[in-house]
Amino acid sequence: MTKPKFCHSEKNIGNLIRVIDEVLQSYISNPQSIFQSYSEFIEYQFENVCRRNKVWYRKSKCMVPNCQAKAIQKSHTLPRSMSLRPIAEDGKVLTPQFNPITNSLELKEVGLAKASTFPGFCEVHERLFHEFEQNNFISNKHELYLQVYRSTCREIYRTKHVSAQFESVISKIKYLRDRRLLEKLRNILILYGMQNNFDINGLSVVEDSLFTMFEERFNNIKNHHIALSEILPTFENHLFHGQQVGTYVSAITIDIKIPVALSGSATIEINHKCYRRKLSIVMGLMPSGNRSLFFVAGRKDDHQEIENYFSYWKKNPFSMLALAETWMLNGTDQWYITPSVWRAIPEMRKKELLNIIMSYDQNIGDDLGISIFDEIRIKLLSEITCPAYVISKESSKMS
Ligand SMILES: [Zn+2]
Repeated sequence: MTKPKFCHSEKNIGNLIRVIDEVLQSYISNPQSIFQSYSEFIEYQFENVCRRNKVWYRKSKCMVPNCQAKAIQKSHTLPRSMSLRPIAEDGKVLTPQFNPITNSLELKEVGLAKASTFPGFCEVHERLFHEFEQNNFISNKHELYLQVYRSTCREIYRTKHVSAQFESVISKIKYLRDRRLLEKLRNILILYGMQNNFDINGLSVVEDSLFTMFEERFNNIKNHHIALSEILPTFENHLFHGQQVGTYVSAITIDIKIPVALSGSATIEINHKCYRRKLSIVMGLMPSGNRSLFFVAGRKDDHQEIENYFSYWKKNPFSMLALAETWMLNGTDQWYITPSVWRAIPEMRKKELLNIIMSYDQNIGDDLGISIFDEIRIKLLSEITCPAYVISKESSKMS
């Protein structure tokens, strides 16, 4: 009696599993091994960053409801003549940008024509913001709401753009991973003389813990986009239909010119005894003249939590300065700083500051513990009488 013939013996299957394990283990211990060389890895990153930058200025429709006109490519989010020009040097400001060549974050010079721009509004609706742009000052509630609306539109555009880019990069890297691991598997089978025992047409890693962190961030951005998209109609109703319900905006002006202009959004996590929930806010910081305007905005239903958050920072000038700093590093990458102010920071501290942005360990509820604006801090320490512990805390941020 002859033994029944199977396609693969148990021994062969066992060998194949061991080879697959070997391939997966080498991938887990060095995920970059899916790239054929370091330069291929850099090329890959570079291509992604270039595509992301190119797609940012794609042709879009004006964001004002029912307007069918084409948006101009470079609508400013931050008022150019009111806030950007006064902090620029030789027509330039510095803003954080990822460098795919060095695989790190750095501050890059950007001209005022490009700073804070996105394809937001058509030529007609750009004029909505002209009055306070030209006066160089936000003088009433309506103008404040217009600026909040403009910041919210930009954040909706950004979160949609980032979600799409995240999705595309994740699927491209997964495709590359599966293709390269299959090549490796075939090569090892050849090495062991087992290439004729199996005809493997495809390989797909179903659960990859290395992507968990990316997918979690991707989901957070998607959820944040949904939350912002729910806030936007309340601002539209307020500005275009005079319905003053559903929105909450809180603003404060301080008599200090902070040399940074910022516009962004973030998620605040509320931890009550009985429940936990997240809420989205839009925030902005705009210097004008010798003053700086801070605002936070969100849904009216969240006004108590938003005000609790804002009140915590509104205690004194030091905490307002710390709020500007935490928004810059933990809130948004949409900020523009006076070049000489950033360049004056000691190198070691600059590295620490950039590491905070990349680490995601802190959030906008945290005081950075290190200083960006030394000159203002030193001036405040010399002018304000404050308790010893405040002097010690603020001084230590500059050491
Ligand atoms: Zn329009």
